[in-house]
Amino acid sequence: MNPSSCDYIIHAAWLITQDHERRVIENAGVAVSNGRILDVGVWDDINREYEGDELLPGRELLVMPGLVNAHTHAPMTLFRGLADDLPLMEWLQTHVFPVEQKHTPESVYFGALLACAEMTRFGVTTFCDMHFMAADVWKAVDDSGLRALVGEAIFGFPNPSYANFEEACIAVEHLIFKHHGGSSRIAPILAPHSVYTTTPDMLTTTYQYAEDNNLKWMIHLAETQAETAECVQKHGKRPLAYIDSLGCLGPRTVIAHGVDLEPDELDRIAKAGAGVVHCPKSNMKLASGVAPAPAMRARGVRTALGTDGAASNNTLGLFTEMRYAALLHKAHTRDATVMDAQSVLDIATCEGARVLGLEKGTGAITPGSPADIIALDLTRPNLRPCYNPVSHVVYAAEGGEVCMTMVAGEVLYKDGAFTRIDYPALLDRIRTLGGWVREINRGSA
Ligand SMILES: [Zn+2]
Repeated sequence: MNPSSCDYIIHAAWLITQDHERRVIENAGVAVSNGRILDVGVWDDINREYEGDELLPGRELLVMPGLVNAHTHAPMTLFRGLADDLPLMEWLQTHVFPVEQKHTPESVYFGALLACAEMTRFGVTTFCDMHFMAADVWKAVDDSGLRALVGEAIFGFPNPSYANFEEACIAVEHLIFKHHGGSSRIAPILAPHSVYTTTPDMLTTTYQYAEDNNLKWMIHLAETQAETAECVQKHGKRPLAYIDSLGCLGPRTVIAHGVDLEPDELDRIAKAGAGVVHCPKSNMKLASGVAPAPAMRARGVRTALGTDGAASNNTLGLFTEMRYAALLHKAHTRDATVMDAQSVLDIATCEGARVLGLEKGTGAITPGSPADIIALDLTRPNLRPCYNPVSHVVYAAEGGEVCMTMVAGEVLYKDGAFTRIDYPALLDRIRTLGGWVREINRGSA
């Protein structure tokens, strides 16, 4: 029988499929065609049955689904390392909010494009973003080739994107309109910032937009005990009960952080079919506390993994984030069996994709699923020898081992080179913008 033609074939020394059986295949092959995974199997079969461009031939590769960074603020790359070692509110109010107020469409675009470059380089193929001037984030995502959900962050105070809530709604409608006519790689979400920066009307109105347009609704919630105390004082309820009382807790709801949650609240989230994005490194750095991620999973809460913005992380890669998720809970519970490597990989791939409501099959390498694939160079010293690749990606890989990133069947990065982003030109813009941020920060500190 003659081989069938396809766009690419990839030879994997180890393939992590993240399919229903969580199969890991040694000496495997993947065939890709028209933006989708065509077939998966042992290398000899794939090589015999398909004819296509072999990606990175002759290399020893660990091939796996691209990672899903379920919560970030892409343009915040411009504030990476600007202020560290401060509590959340002081950090936000004296350093982040003053410089954010000076953002322009250009700084948002290039900050987001830098984030896209970083995520592409470190194996993230999908992310979920919340920022004002989201149309400019959207453009950066579109130019980068990544897959993303993009939301206009809704605050109850003016910012460079809008003067009031009415104008914010226009920005939201603009994104929804764009979506209806545009790329399926990018979709909008509704993104009220938090309970402490919005009014009840902002929460219910944005939730209605989500309902009307079948979109997700993401909010920072229960991030700190201080947030809970303020919410109880202002609204007489804890944050989760507050959004629930407004009709904003359902399958569309995605909670970023969820640190200060009681067991009965976890049950309430699970029953509602809502999701939580666990952001362990950001929570550790801002001393927000430890989210009950093992209990979430045990109680059936859909859980994803996110980095949060580069001002509080300070990186956007998910390999190190997976390691924090695995190690933090073992130390915290004194139980080495919690958040095992497979569970952590799940929340960073297929489960994360499910929390974000992405197309079925996203976050797995299985026939028919979107071809969002990454390859790691297995000859790196920190990945030798290899007995169990799932262990390696959670406990040994740093992210720099990624040598190929593909989204929707398009190679976006290969062996040090970006195919879409003009990286030297981007660096030039970031040098200039970095100088500008430094000046503003000097003026406001
Ligand atoms: Zn955040």
